[in-house]
Amino acid sequence: MENILKSLHTFTICTTRILTLSLILIPLLLNSQILFEKQIPDTVLIKLDEFLSEASITIPKRSVAIFESRSLQEFNKVTGMPYSVGGVYFDFKIILQPINILKKKGVYEKVLLHELLHWVLYGLDEKYQEGLIYWWLEEYDRKEVEDFLNVFDGNLHNFIISHWNE
Ligand SMILES: [Zn+2]
Repeated sequence: MENILKSLHTFTICTTRILTLSLILIPLLLNSQILFEKQIPDTVLIKLDEFLSEASITIPKRSVAIFESRSLQEFNKVTGMPYSVGGVYFDFKIILQPINILKKKGVYEKVLLHELLHWVLYGLDEKYQEGLIYWWLEEYDRKEVEDFLNVFDGNLHNFIISHWNE
């Protein structure tokens, strides 16, 4: 029981830290909406926390701004990405498709977690980011996973540290 309480406490602190750091500031896009902390599902925060402890890394000091596009057209215009891509991470910013659309597709939590992982791995060599993230999320059918596994020695922390070029 004590252990459960202890880990709950740790998690609360960690979550609070993530939320504080996730809350943002300057709207990047004229029409975009900032994603508020209450819109980040607990399941996403729990998985993010799980990744941080598995990898023995801490969240970046620099916060991430999460933006929700108001329409698919806006998402496409701003990111240059097709509608098959649910979200984009770059330079401490995440731009999402309209959340109701992601939810309808049943991918909202998956997309958000994926992009948040790019954020916590911001210094990792870009050529390994997709592979590592898909691997960790158990999306093994992605071709990037194979490239990643070709160089991955099984130690997540060491791998991240040794391919970190901030
Ligand atoms: Zn990605």
